[in-house]
Amino acid sequence: MPIFEFHCHSCNQEFEKLVFGADPEVECPHCGQNKVEKLMSACTAKVGGKLTSTSSGGGSSCAGCSSGSCSTCG
Ligand SMILES: [Zn+2]
Repeated sequence: MPIFEFHCHSCNQEFEKLVFGADPEVECPHCGQNKVEKLMSACTAKVGGKLTSTSSGGGSSCAGCSSGSCSTCG
């Protein structure tokens, strides 16, 4: 949902409005003026950290004798 924050220069009020266009005409709901400035949305969260892949050994080897093809302890 493209909800942006706006700041009205006429009455110094901030409000949120649902907009669809890239540069829509937004009127202030408090005073009705269109002297509003679109603020940066707070929804742009930075994603940090690395995706760690844990490798826990092979899946085919026997855990008892560490052999690939085990027939005595399996
Ligand atoms: Zn206003």
